[in-house]
Amino acid sequence: MTAVQGDVSEHLGAVEEALRDLGLSGHAVAVRRPATLEEVDALIVPGGESTTISKLLHEFDLADGILRRASEGMPLMGTCAGCILLAKEGDAQVRATDTRLLGLMDMAVDRNAYGGQQESFEAALELDEIGTVEGVFIRAPAIRRVWGACRPLGRLDEAIVMARQNHLVALTFHPELSPSTGVHRYFLGLV
Ligand code: GLN
Repeated sequence: MTAVQGDVSEHLGAVEEALRDLGLSGHAVAVRRPATLEEVDALIVPGGESTTISKLLHEFDLADGILRRASEGMPLMGTCAGCILLAKEGDAQVRATDTRLLGLMDMAVDRNAYGGQQESFEAALELDEIGTVEGVFIRAPAIRRVWGACRPLGRLDEAIVMARQNHLVALTFHPELSPSTGVHRYFLGLV
């Protein structure tokens, strides 16, 4: 996964656990250099701070490689801040912060959609193709709209919490903090 900023070690642990659960060989590696990006079969862009991650992806010279590998079919999962970066459209907050979206998925997101009143919370989610997952939301975005080839896999109230577009997956919560490896197993199933 990209390891320029954010929830890196938790995702590394969750991928290793999901690989074990599935009986697969393979390893999770932290991607900080373009050369490492060329060696991976799939990539996670973790949660963190979307503006910072977007800057660092360019500074570390990873953004172009991610776009090319994704266009060649590499499975890519963005969680929370990573979800924002995968979107084609961001809200006024995203625009005001000069966040450079990767713009790979046909979806519009609102950053910090749950605002001050409920910045962090957990909720049981029913996800298509996965089942029940305890979702941990931390200053989470919301996927407001999907179009084209992108389809929702789960909702919490009106907000879409997970979406998939072929080999691209985005979710607004933190699957690496949930006791179940369901989301990581699902993602590894795309590889
Ligand atoms: N609110 C953060 C952002 O806008 C995302 C939070 C997270 O990844 N936990 O980038």
